[in-house]
Amino acid sequence: MDSYKQNVIGNSLKVRSQRVRRMKAGIIGFVCFMTVVPTILCIILFVKVYSLQNEVNDLKKGYIGASFYNDYDTLGSVATITENSNTILEENDGTMYNSKDGIDTLIDQNISTSIDSKENQTELDEITSDKDSSDDNLNNTNQLETKDKEEKKQVYLTFDDGPSKYTSELLDLLKSYNVKATFFVIGKTDKHSLDMYKRIVEEGHSLGIHSYSHDYTNIYESLENFDNDFTKLRDLLYDTTGYLTNIYRFPGGSANNIAKEKISLFIDYLNENDITYFDWNVVNGDGTGEKITKEDSYQNVMNGVKVHKRSIVLMHDTDMKQATIDSVETILKDLLEQGVEILPLDDSVKPIQQIKASTLQ
Ligand code: ZN
Repeated sequence: MDSYKQNVIGNSLKVRSQRVRRMKAGIIGFVCFMTVVPTILCIILFVKVYSLQNEVNDLKKGYIGASFYNDYDTLGSVATITENSNTILEENDGTMYNSKDGIDTLIDQNISTSIDSKENQTELDEITSDKDSSDDNLNNTNQLETKDKEEKKQVYLTFDDGPSKYTSELLDLLKSYNVKATFFVIGKTDKHSLDMYKRIVEEGHSLGIHSYSHDYTNIYESLENFDNDFTKLRDLLYDTTGYLTNIYRFPGGSANNIAKEKISLFIDYLNENDITYFDWNVVNGDGTGEKITKEDSYQNVMNGVKVHKRSIVLMHDTDMKQATIDSVETILKDLLEQGVEILPLDDSVKPIQQIKASTLQ
């Protein structure tokens, strides 16, 4: 009887210890699972972040290499805009820079990446003498009125990448100061955007083509893509506003680092279609990936305008650029107080172009 009891007790102990072992194994397995899986996930994420960081660095190098900065555009894609440079040097019709102040900018900012120092010096000499002779001519005319007119600074405010949720506010503001600006827009078909295209035209501003998709890699890949994108937007704007625009701004400017040597194809295309493209010589700084304040935006514009007789100012009209919109009123007020003429661009305005068709042939 005792041995039977002992057997029963022994068996039940055995069963219990087996159960305990199974539970232990289960707990250990669970703990291992909860530790190992997140660790593996962390490693995968780390590798992913590292490779993305490298790609971002490469992109940055590509843009900054030509004195441009990255920009984060309205479409949410990273670093597709390189529209940030005070480096515009050349006017459309001649070998000279715009004016002596252009040279100051060039020297101050030490920025010319495409012209070597020797050429640079020669051009500077030429420009200086040119400026002197034009001064003489001016004096000879002895017409104060003309001189006053000549001396009046001209500023062309341009807003890229719109329409945005701020466009309406911006148009109201421009209207209240009776100022006309230029909008280089992208392709959007929602009602608000279509209304904005119309308002831009109806209120006397210049409506220019920027890009339907604003996708650098696509539009600069081939002339066919460029043509498709350009035509799609031009048609949309014509159908919406009844106005066939003939002014254009290259995404990233004509000296962008994506189009590279193909830019000559696109410039030829624009020339053949009687389209004038405009770059810029002043930026408010909202084209970088860095966040700027409205004070930065204001100050950058005022500093840029100060050193140029004729300024084409690049700003952005996107949902992300509230600082820009917030700075516009003070910019308008102060420029008008200084007696500056604020004008819209059109094809009669002498363009500022980073890369000219003639330099490519
Ligand atoms: Zn743009």
